[in-house]
Amino acid sequence: MVAAAEHIWLGRLVNAFAFIGAGGHHAGRDFFGGYCCFNDVAIAIERLREAHGLRRVAILDTDAHHGDGTRDVYQDDPAVLHVCLCGTDHVSADGTKVDVAVYRRCLEAGSRSDEVYLEAARGAFASRIRSFRPDLIIWYFGFDGHRGDYGDLGLTAACYTGLVGLTLSLAGEMCGGRLLVVLGGGSRTDLASTLIPPIIARLADAGA
Ligand SMILES: [Zn+2]
Ligand SMILES: [Zn+2]
Repeated sequence: MVAAAEHIWLGRLVNAFAFIGAGGHHAGRDFFGGYCCFNDVAIAIERLREAHGLRRVAILDTDAHHGDGTRDVYQDDPAVLHVCLCGTDHVSADGTKVDVAVYRRCLEAGSRSDEVYLEAARGAFASRIRSFRPDLIIWYFGFDGHRGDYGDLGLTAACYTGLVGLTLSLAGEMCGGRLLVVLGGGSRTDLASTLIPPIIARLADAGA
């Protein structure tokens, strides 16, 4: 994960998919939970900052649950835009910490939940990132909100296809294509094996 971030930052790769065992977004400064012992995204960001001069980074968190650990680490850091799709609506005073309440909206939308979720992601992330101007985009890709997984929001593969398109196009527009996708929550191997290869294929096409 840290190596993937460094390869991107140093121009050896345009983008990467970090296929890791467990995500880290529930690990904060002095607590951990939800099978997250270390906050891998924060560790990668801090490595790039200390060793390579990274300044501004934007994180889109599409795990079904609130990224409380990542939020804790970067709560007072205006150089990190953290947009998290979860169960509450919140925008910090400086506009860099954002939660979007998608639970109810998706459940009410029924078969239109993909559309509603993507619209929420676009509305919260795309609009802010253009004024934020990050050097790197990180997509914390949880798929536990897929229909039938433990964070079921009724989402299907179409939602994740839309999200990879969104993050790739924003990375292309804002930061030379630099996009790191990090595997977050999700428990079903059948879903993983269906959802992940097309995402990697899209990244590979964009990076070729
Ligand atoms: Zn989750
Ligand atoms: Zn959240």
